[in-house]
Amino acid sequence: MSRLLLRLGGLALLGGIAYMVLGEALFGGADNRLVKTILIAGGVALAAGLVARVAGRAAAGLAGRSCPRCGRRVARGHVYCDDHLQETINAYRDRQRESGR
Ligand SMILES: [Zn+2]
Repeated sequence: MSRLLLRLGGLALLGGIAYMVLGEALFGGADNRLVKTILIAGGVALAAGLVARVAGRAAAGLAGRSCPRCGRRVARGHVYCDDHLQETINAYRDRQRESGR
């Protein structure tokens, strides 16, 4: 989705600039209003594509956290994978027991 928007925006900007240059050369003056509209549309599409990309990455970062021990994907709200969660709890318990002595 974001890639499509970025491509469309880039194409619109290129098209607008090409039209401006060609219109100047071939038709003795491009339609400035049309050029401006194309460039603005391209800029908006590019901005939307960038926002969509950043938002997509942020969402992926929130949803797909990985275990700091093994890098495996973990469920939402969890820090460690199932294996290492148990291991961490055991280690924590051991530490508690040792300090309690
Ligand atoms: Zn793990």
